[in-house]
Formats: sequence, structure tokens, C-alpha cells
Amino acid sequence: MPADLPAPSVAANLEAVRGRIDAAARACGRAPGDVTLVAVSKGHGVDAIRVVLECGQRVFGENRVQEAQAKWPELRREYPDIELHLIGPLQTNKVADALALFDVIETLDRPRLAAKLGAACAGKSCPRLLVQVNTGEEPQKAGVAPLEADAFIASCINDHGLKPTGLMCIPPVDEEAAPHFALLAKIAVRNGLDELSMGMSADYETAITFGATHVRVGTAIFGVR
Ligand SMILES: *Cc1c(COP(=O)(O)O)cnc(C)c1O
Repeated sequence: MPADLPAPSVAANLEAVRGRIDAAARACGRAPGDVTLVAVSKGHGVDAIRVVLECGQRVFGENRVQEAQAKWPELRREYPDIELHLIGPLQTNKVADALALFDVIETLDRPRLAAKLGAACAGKSCPRLLVQVNTGEEPQKAGVAPLEADAFIASCINDHGLKPTGLMCIPPVDEEAAPHFALLAKIAVRNGLDELSMGMSADYETAITFGATHVRVGTAIFGVR
């Protein structure tokens, strides 16, 4: 893990990001409360996370189950109203661990995982689920292809008893993000899904313009990993 930024910098970064989220929302006629900041704490230790918790932030994202297991149970005892999002790929053998720890799984991305989650969630309360769409159709990236998204969402509902509430994407690093955000928003609308998790440190204001309900911001708050 990197040497964490001093606490005052992290607190100031968080305030700045919140201000920019509110301004971006207002600029396109949305209410600031429509956009939830998911503070991405992967690669940072509990001390840095505590600074952000003390500033009132409660929604966090982690990309690895094991790392989250090492950090979050103790923080949750101190702050019971934390909402933790899994934003990285979920292996099927980690499903039980993920269900025990996360409130939202943003990376429902393939039929085998849908089947596993459906079986594990049957008759129980399930985390909120977002379907990850590989908008850039990058071979190395997780997510369902845009053309397969409608069928996959239908199958999650009809075959596996799941109720996805939204979509998530990570646009290609070397492309303009806006068309990817527009595509994700379009797929959400035609499937009647309300939540859109899109936008990271470099492009969260653009994502808000395209309807993001959740922006996932790490570096701009915690510094480089
Ligand atoms: C790391 C990560 C982020 C945050 O990225 P930053 O550029 O540090 O803001 C957002 N989403 C996912 C899926 C990530 O893995």
C-alpha cells in the first residue's frame, strides 16, 4: 500500500469532489442528491478510510473481496450505516463471502455468476445488483456485450430470480468516455433500470451529465495508489 496522504489533504479532496459533483448536477438541471459518491478505497488502509468516514462519507467501493474482508468488518462495527459496493470482478467461489460483506454488487457480468447468485440469494435478502456492461467490447474487460445486455438482464430476472436495479461500466482508458456513458444510459432506459454507476476520477462530471446516479471516485479523494 502507498504512504497515505495526510488526513487534511484527504478531507479537502473529499470536499472538493463533493462540490464538483453538486456543481455538475446543478449545471445539467439535476438535484445534487440524485448523485451518490462511491468513495473507492481499494489500495488504501483503514486510517485513510477513517478520515473519510469522519467527514460523513458512508458509501464506499472495493474491488477485491479479500482486501475488503481485511478492512471493513472492524470499520462496520464503528459505523453501522456504511454501504459497501463491490466494483471488481466476482469469482463464483467468493459469492458467499461477497454476500456476507457487500450491500451492492456492481459486477454481475456473466450467466454463471447470475446462476450462483440466484441460488445463494433464494429466500434471503440479496445485495442490490448492477449489471456490468463492457461498452467498449474490450476482450480483457469484464461485462456483458452491449448487444447481449437485454437478454442477460431478462435471464437474470426470469431464470435466476434476481432483480438488477442498474448498470455499471468502465469505458476504455484511451477513448472519450461520453459515448460509453450515453450507451449505458440508453440500455438502462430500455430495460427500465434506474441506477447508473459510471464515471471515475477523470470523468465523473461528464458521467453526471449523462445521468450517472453513482460515481466511483478513488484517486481524486485518496491520492494515487
Ligand atoms: C479503481 C476503480 C475506480 C476508481 O478509479 P479512480 O480513477 O481512482 O477514481 C472506479 N471504478 C472501478 C471499477 C475501479 O476499479
